[in-house]
Amino acid sequence: MAPDVSIATERTRSDAPAASAPRVPDFVGGKWVESRATQHVDVFNPATGAVIARTPLGTRADVDAAVAAAKAAFPAWRATPVVERARTMFAFKNRLEEHFDELARLVTTEHGKTLDESRGSVRRGIEAVEVACGMPSMMMGYGLEDIARGLDCDVHRQPLGVFGAIAPFNFPAMVPLWFLPFAVATGNTFVVKPSELVPLSQKRIHELLDGCVPPGVVNVVNGGVDVVNGLCEHPDVRGVSFVGSTPVARHVYRTASHAGKRVQALGGAKNFIAVLPDADLDRSIGVVSESCYGCAGERCLAGSIVVTVGDARHHANVRERLVAAAKAIKVGDGLEPGVTMGPVIREAARQRILGYVEKGVAEGAELVLDGRGHSVKGRESGFFLGPTVFDKVSPKSAIGKEEIFGPVLSLMNVPDLAGAIDLLHQHPQANATSIFTGSGKAARAFASQAPPTMVGVNVGVAAPMSFFPFGGAKESFFGDVKAHGRDGIAFYTDQKVVIERWF
Ligand code: NAD
Repeated sequence: MAPDVSIATERTRSDAPAASAPRVPDFVGGKWVESRATQHVDVFNPATGAVIARTPLGTRADVDAAVAAAKAAFPAWRATPVVERARTMFAFKNRLEEHFDELARLVTTEHGKTLDESRGSVRRGIEAVEVACGMPSMMMGYGLEDIARGLDCDVHRQPLGVFGAIAPFNFPAMVPLWFLPFAVATGNTFVVKPSELVPLSQKRIHELLDGCVPPGVVNVVNGGVDVVNGLCEHPDVRGVSFVGSTPVARHVYRTASHAGKRVQALGGAKNFIAVLPDADLDRSIGVVSESCYGCAGERCLAGSIVVTVGDARHHANVRERLVAAAKAIKVGDGLEPGVTMGPVIREAARQRILGYVEKGVAEGAELVLDGRGHSVKGRESGFFLGPTVFDKVSPKSAIGKEEIFGPVLSLMNVPDLAGAIDLLHQHPQANATSIFTGSGKAARAFASQAPPTMVGVNVGVAAPMSFFPFGGAKESFFGDVKAHGRDGIAFYTDQKVVIERWF
């Protein structure tokens, strides 16, 4: 099936033969191998603008090789007792812990977020591995004897075969770990395609995983569209987990489900935060500001629209405090101490976000804090932007509707809670939302009636831990079964019902 979306323009494609930056290898059948790619994209350190590696744009033949290795490894891995499979996750967790700081630095180097943010994301990834250590209990089935005279019935959860995972750029270490530990500990084999913008964290993670599991159980194929479509259409791939923008999530869902696979495709987002007059603003404003500007706004859970609920005085109070919090943000190289916001991923991303700021002004929103023209001393080639605040944003405008994925906060005002809930229903995407209030009644009504399936109450980033399901609704999620938690087990296993009688 032809893709209905084109690869993002923020990727810098290059056909130049040899550059000095090393080309990232693939991991196939337990060996580090050269991709068959003839094209690559440059990997940058977003804080310095320096090219630090090159990602090969892998081919279908690269996908075939990795899937063949995963398929060959499956029978023995499936037959390995779950306790032994869980033990490999313990070993993997220990290796991740030993290399925790190194991994966090690598995430910051290839992505740009601050070291604290990288540490948080690597910690979340490790927690997913910890959860998978409990697989013997989690994948247990159930049974009943004497469902009729002399007849017993048992349900067993069984792995299915080869699964693929396709990742976005914004959490280079964490997002593939939402899937890999669950898929592998349940007895499947796995092929990961990292984002071509940030391939280095997955390379390091698979170096650490190498030796914990047998060859072929986990594989990495680097690339872009061809690798994605190769995984979605490959007859030996049983299912695909995807995280990225809404158009590509929709494409992956259609392509892979058309090919008869299980699919969970997590898409883009525009998240609203409602602030009620009875909210404890002294405690809430920092949390709301962090939700929007954390990871430079490059987060699917970023609360980029703040909706004040109530009168003009409440609105002015929230606005003044949010602007003060934004002004206090220290933009710079995420590796430097004291920096609270790093650069965005690419110059093209910076230009796209600047375009949104210009659109916001042209659409008549009030530019209260202008983050354009922000530069960082000593890092003049980095992809930096300052925090921006708009007020009087219309939900129908481009900045009110579209995912900006940058450090831009939009303020709206509605008279009552029903108006805030209505805004959520009007938006085609529904990933996460939050309410800040002192009223249990208001919080309960909001949580119950909001369409997004991840809701924060006095919590700015409603990110479920890996023993709960993760994923949105509407155009933020395509599929039936969410990421990790019990859903992760359901996605990566089938239920076999055995009805037994012995004569
Ligand atoms: P993206 O959709 O551009 O890329 C995601 C993956 O799809 C990458 O591996 C990329 O190589 C591949 N891809 C890109 N274009 C393609 C095409 N035309 N055909 C086939 N494959 C293609 O997303 P991104 O820019 O890397 O990440 C940011 C997006 O991800 C944001 O929209 C963000 O909200 C979303 N995201 C969502 C969640 C969630 O849980 N819902 C989590 C993280 C990020």
